[in-house]
Amino acid sequence: MKKVLWQQLRRTEFQKAVEADAVVIIPVASTEQHGNHLPVNTDADCCFTIAVRAAQAIDEFPVLVLPTIWTGYSPHHMAYPGTITLKYHTFVEVLTQVATSVHAHGFKKILFLNGHGGNSAVVAAMRTKLAAEEGVSAVGYTYWEMPSVPEEWKAISQSDKGFVGHAAEIETSLQLYLQPELVDMGAAVWVPGVFGDPSTASREKGERLLSAGVSALIAILRDYHSGQLEDRLMWRKEIL
Ligand SMILES: [Zn+2]
Repeated sequence: MKKVLWQQLRRTEFQKAVEADAVVIIPVASTEQHGNHLPVNTDADCCFTIAVRAAQAIDEFPVLVLPTIWTGYSPHHMAYPGTITLKYHTFVEVLTQVATSVHAHGFKKILFLNGHGGNSAVVAAMRTKLAAEEGVSAVGYTYWEMPSVPEEWKAISQSDKGFVGHAAEIETSLQLYLQPELVDMGAAVWVPGVFGDPSTASREKGERLLSAGVSALIAILRDYHSGQLEDRLMWRKEIL
């Protein structure tokens, strides 16, 4: 299978990827409590898996996936064991310096794929700062907000109704599909720190949810590489 993981490439392979105008995905996630039934790497695992499967499905141009930024902005989960959070400005700096490093090697198409709700607004604002202050343009999506995903997930989910709560039906279903050995369905009930009802989750739903997410990301990657995806930050930079 072709290599899509950034950390597996050699120097010469990065040069070839730049020449082919590769899209580079920076997965951004969290390490945080997900109720009593899911592992703390839930966001990181869901986000990274969607990125890797989409990258592997594209043959027309290279897509590289960076190692997941495994800790995010999760102060609201610190009341529960296992959560690791960065402070706001530290998180913004980590994202900024990773993206500027990628850009410094010649990559022009950078996509942040976020997998944690608490990161969404930070990543969006950070991308504006990245363009204005560093001259680096990047697009960004939270995986459950990619075009077509909310509608498709609404048709699959029962209690979440397409809305990703926290450690609820959708995330629990995804984890039953991806890491079933780490899920304790006997403890899959609402407790403080859970937003939604995990008891309606299933592995079969998880497989369908993941497939819809991967398809949505493939479409975004193709539009981005072809130039069809409007790059609002580049436009913004031109008028500054
Ligand atoms: Zn989560």
